[in-house]
Amino acid sequence: MRIQIDRERCMGSGSCQFHAPDTFDLDADCKAIVVDDGTGDDQAIRNAAENCPTHAIVLVEATETESTN
Ligand code: SF4
Repeated sequence: MRIQIDRERCMGSGSCQFHAPDTFDLDADCKAIVVDDGTGDDQAIRNAAENCPTHAIVLVEATETESTN
């Protein structure tokens, strides 16, 4: 799946990094970044998105065409 982070909304809580440490990290501005192109554990990524306090993480499920590439 694709992961989009709204940097304006991100408050740098680090919750996403806690839930999916292989996928999320914080940059020098304390904003979340994706470090593995969203190839990490889907459930962990969903947990991270659901628990983001500002709903800054948007998940875009891969289409069938994309998933077969
Ligand atoms: S959980 Fe949300 S607000 Fe917190 S660092 Fe991650 S994206 Fe930013």
